[in-house]
Amino acid sequence: MFALAASSVRYLALLAGLLLGATTALDLVQYLAILVTGLALLQGTYAFLNRPFPRFWFGIAGIVVVWTVVGSGAQWPLLPLTLPLYGLLTVIHLLAGLAILRSDEFSGRGKSIVGWVFIIWGLHRADYPFIRSIEWLSPWGYILSAVLEIIVAVGMMLIYFDRTRAELEANEQRLAQDASDRRRTEAAEHEQRLLAEALRDTGAALTSALDLPEVLHRILEHIARLVPHDAATIMLVDDGIAHIVDSRGYVERGQLAALAIRFPVAESEKFTSMVASGLPLIIDDVHTDSKWLDMAETRWIRGYLGAPIRVEGQTIGFINLDSATPKVFNARHAETLRIFADQAGIALRNARLYDTLRRQAAELEQRVADRTAELERERAQLWAILDGIGEGVVGMIFGDAPDSIAYRYTNSALHRLIGFTPDEWDTRSVFIGNLPPDQFPATWSDMLNAIASSGLWKTETLVQRKDGSTFEASLTVSQVTGKHGQIEGVVSILRDISQEKALEAQKANFVTSASHELRTPIANLKTRLWLLRQQPERLPQHLEILDQVTNRIQKLVEDLLDLSRFERGVIPLELQRLHLQAFVAELVEVQQVEADQKQLELACSLPPPNLIVKADPDRLNQIITNLITNAIRYTPAGGKIEVRARAADDTTALIEVQDSGIGIAPEHLPHIFEPFYRAHPDGSGMGLGLSISREIAQLHGGDLSVTSQPGEGSCFTLRLPLLQGGTI
Ligand code: ADP
Repeated sequence: MFALAASSVRYLALLAGLLLGATTALDLVQYLAILVTGLALLQGTYAFLNRPFPRFWFGIAGIVVVWTVVGSGAQWPLLPLTLPLYGLLTVIHLLAGLAILRSDEFSGRGKSIVGWVFIIWGLHRADYPFIRSIEWLSPWGYILSAVLEIIVAVGMMLIYFDRTRAELEANEQRLAQDASDRRRTEAAEHEQRLLAEALRDTGAALTSALDLPEVLHRILEHIARLVPHDAATIMLVDDGIAHIVDSRGYVERGQLAALAIRFPVAESEKFTSMVASGLPLIIDDVHTDSKWLDMAETRWIRGYLGAPIRVEGQTIGFINLDSATPKVFNARHAETLRIFADQAGIALRNARLYDTLRRQAAELEQRVADRTAELERERAQLWAILDGIGEGVVGMIFGDAPDSIAYRYTNSALHRLIGFTPDEWDTRSVFIGNLPPDQFPATWSDMLNAIASSGLWKTETLVQRKDGSTFEASLTVSQVTGKHGQIEGVVSILRDISQEKALEAQKANFVTSASHELRTPIANLKTRLWLLRQQPERLPQHLEILDQVTNRIQKLVEDLLDLSRFERGVIPLELQRLHLQAFVAELVEVQQVEADQKQLELACSLPPPNLIVKADPDRLNQIITNLITNAIRYTPAGGKIEVRARAADDTTALIEVQDSGIGIAPEHLPHIFEPFYRAHPDGSGMGLGLSISREIAQLHGGDLSVTSQPGEGSCFTLRLPLLQGGTI
């Protein structure tokens, strides 16, 4: 614009010179306008080419202006006046033309036209001082100048259009580039999204499914979506051997044999390199790679991508992707696989932790079960012991509420003793001897007070059984003490002491009877000795009586000694095999004389088979003789006595002594085996024979019993164990 304005000023000044006649002032205006035009063109060209405009041109132009103004004022001739000006313009135009022609920024016809026209124009500027002086040529010079200016303008427009078109094309290209960049970004985003989804999914699988095969299978599925391949395997390393635990693509290819291969890690360079680096490994073509071990089963493979599965810095497996095409795997695939290998690592670590936990839980469960079983066994043993003892036991743990019971145990002996089941009686009644309920509270609190002060409460009481019968019992209640010394409950032991009481009574009775039995003959002895002093002449009779009395005392003492020894079991038995029938027959024969004297029939019944027993013959003789003599003694004349020996069964022999004598009243029957007990006080015996006989029978593992009807007779039965195979 500036150049155009300056150029217009120049042409106006020229026109004014033509119309009004040339003057120095108009020429000067024209010169200066053309100089400004040139400078503006050069500056415009630099700007057009995006280059900085060298400032020194203004300095040069200033010098030229001063020269021209001074020259015009001094009326210098044309040539020296205009030569520097037009020379400068020539240089300016040539420079502008060359700059345009040499520029890289644009191309096309416009560039050539403008460049060359600038050069031509520049050359034309140089001719100005010369053609101006030639009258007829001067107008043509101006016309050429104008034409050249027009051509430059057109060329500039062409350049502008070319440049605009180029910019448009560049814009289009950029847009296309942008579109493809966006598509690439979208594809990358899609891939990232898939990866994120896959990771989220395997992450969820990791937390939801502790089932390792399930997680590994999912990992393989996701890898298939993100990294294209033909087959994949997951391997775990055990003792340096990698084996396949899951796969894709091998079963489908019918290559089951490949899955069974076991790979020693140390022998495979691809594995050792992954173990060493901890990073994925890409093999572009396994056929040309030394790290690959050639095997028939995997010869179809060309491209390989593997990643180590690591847990706490240790490589515990590998994920392998195989492709039938070489060079398919890139760094992005490797990175994706690495991420999944890390996931597999986490899954394996979780699975191991879970496995350890499960094992520990199982161990704990087993230990609890063992301990419970042990406690159960101990409890059962304790109960068996408690049930086995003869005393009734009640264990009780008190509840939190007053007088309440949280736990109660009773042993079976208690039920046997009292006849009530645990539900049938009031617990407290056992502790206080089946007192009437209205007396419970007082006695109950007495008991608790006694326990609190001394830890124990003891009493003897009469206990009533369910059937109404009673027995004497001792009751001991002791406290169950808690960890801190407090009373947690009580244990009560109920013992039937009726037998002990009876025994005590028996003992007392025994002593009384024994002293009585001794006192009588001793008194006889004293009387007889007094009579002897008074009647020395009747010495023989007195001596005979004294002899009898002494014998009786001796017999009594011996019997008492026997009884005591047999009771304590201190007399050793001299056991022999005895043929029972023969043995009995002999004894009966001995007693025959006495039976005959008393006019009694004494018979034997000794049927076969022969019975063999193991017995002390003297002691057996003592029993049988005692039974026969008793029968003779308590059977009136004319009566009958029968002695039988027979087998009761395969294990027991019976010796029965039956008489038709006076018999024994039922109230005496339970007592006749007690020492000094006599059913018939007028009898001459001392009441020790049967006691001794029963003791001897029991020492032989047998027993002695009786059945009797008063007035009809009695039958005493001796049972003895038969020797094994003791019947012949
Ligand atoms: P004793 O020396 O008094 O006979 P025993 O111990 O042999 O002592 O017998 C105890 C009691 O049993 C006898 O006093 C008698 O009353 C009774 N008795 C024993 N045998 C018979 C019998 N065969 N018939 C009737 N009573 C008998």
